[in-house]
Amino acid sequence: SAVLDAAFFARWMAAADAAVDREADRLTELDAAIGDADHGVNMRRGFTAVVSAQEVEPQATPGAVLVAAGRRLISTVGGASGPLYGTLLRGAGKALGDAAEVTPEDLGRALRAGVEAVARLGGAAAGDKTMLDALEPGARALERGGGFGEAARAAREGAVATVPMLARKGRASYLGERSVGHEDPGAASSALLFAALAEAAA
Ligand code: ADP
Ligand code: MG
Ligand code: MG
Repeated sequence: SAVLDAAFFARWMAAADAAVDREADRLTELDAAIGDADHGVNMRRGFTAVVSAQEVEPQATPGAVLVAAGRRLISTVGGASGPLYGTLLRGAGKALGDAAEVTPEDLGRALRAGVEAVARLGGAAAGDKTMLDALEPGARALERGGGFGEAARAAREGAVATVPMLARKGRASYLGERSVGHEDPGAASSALLFAALAEAAA
């Protein structure tokens, strides 16, 4: 299967930044319904910082690109999503180690390690109506060898599946039953992250 180098990972982060820019209003609208209406702004600030940092200081390996991106997200995003996405990317980057090239399956395994770190940090599990509900199926699809298209589809389906869920973590959980009937903003942005992977490969 395809071999992914540091340049591919930098393109992934740039595609994620572009996707978050395009979809910022939608992410903020989703967060207005069950949160505090800043998810689009938070994601935009974070990925803009990731891309400008990698332009100034390019990283030599896939793992280093993700670790640097994760650190940027943690240091620039004030909301819950900054430390959570930061932990995802940093954890995935560490799992990739210092390999110069990795496969999509390697990335799937690394992202699953990152997903586990996010679950530990935030205390959430699948079905709690969080970003995990999109990240986990996306990472699993990659790990199984489904490729980027399949992973993007799995993550998007995971995000849509949060609509009927009751939020058990994060701000949306304060709403109790009123959180039902809305897509989780973090799950929606996680689906964008997987869509960006497919774009970076195209
Ligand atoms: P904030 O809630 O601080 O304003 P954002 O709006 O940027 O931060 O991000 C909200 C998203 O973060 C939620 O939609 C959810 O997906 C995710 N999230 C919040 N808390 C948790 C948690 N404990 N575990 C996993 N994801 C979480
Ligand atoms: Mg918010
Ligand atoms: Mg906030």
